[in-house]
Amino acid sequence: MSNFGRVFLTGAGPGDIEMLTLKALRIVKEADVVIYDRLANPDILDFAKDGCEFIYVGKEDSHHTLPQEEINEVIYQAACKYKNVCRLKGGDSFVFGRGGEEAIYLNDRGVEFEFIPGITSSISVPEYAGIPVTHRGISVSFRVVTGHEAAKGKSQIPWDNYKTDDTIVFLMGLHNLDKITKKLIEIGKNKETPIAVISRGSTKDQKVVVGTLENIYEQAKDLPTPSLFIVGEVVKLREQLKWFDK
Ligand code: SAH
Repeated sequence: MSNFGRVFLTGAGPGDIEMLTLKALRIVKEADVVIYDRLANPDILDFAKDGCEFIYVGKEDSHHTLPQEEINEVIYQAACKYKNVCRLKGGDSFVFGRGGEEAIYLNDRGVEFEFIPGITSSISVPEYAGIPVTHRGISVSFRVVTGHEAAKGKSQIPWDNYKTDDTIVFLMGLHNLDKITKKLIEIGKNKETPIAVISRGSTKDQKVVVGTLENIYEQAKDLPTPSLFIVGEVVKLREQLKWFDK
């Protein structure tokens, strides 16, 4: 028998509280402690039992409130103290959520864990904007990319692969919107390629701005975070598929 509690690396969905899965809801209800991020809807905490401890380790888009090492240690310490530890994150833990890193840290120390997949913003936020990431005859694939790296001198993004006509979803990239759109034009994408920036998707504050690679920056640069953007012909489908922010 392990002396540690069990850690549930739990995806909270994109923002709309009803996008929490039944399984995640059960984990939250059973938790002795919930360690949560800025992007997890805090109303979810209302489901926790009396006496549950809440630890906020909020992450901003471009700077982290707590360094990842410290977050790992907070989770580990919680597992030393409590039986059921819920690590609650926006979207899904594996999509730029560092769920893997946290679990490796726990694994190295003999702490058991489970992954509770969540509904990732990368697909569901475009869906709330009426933009399908794939559509027959328009886009046969989509990729989800970090826009955070884009500005760094030695970007890890293999830009040459991005000439694709298929859909590209950028997370954590609003502060680099100008650089990324220019880069996409530079590598050969048509400057008229449609792009949508979606801010606070799936919440009552959702805002969607549609433009082209050439003109989106001026229109969308001041949108509040969290925001993602989606590039490709699928964006045009919003004209017919818009529903949530009609
Ligand atoms: N693990 C998360 C993503 C973490 S990265 C997931 O699967 O959804 C954080 C980025 O996700 C933000 O910078 C933003 O680009 C995007 N994001 C998360 N929630 C969002 C929302 N409600 N609306 C728009 N973008 C969102």
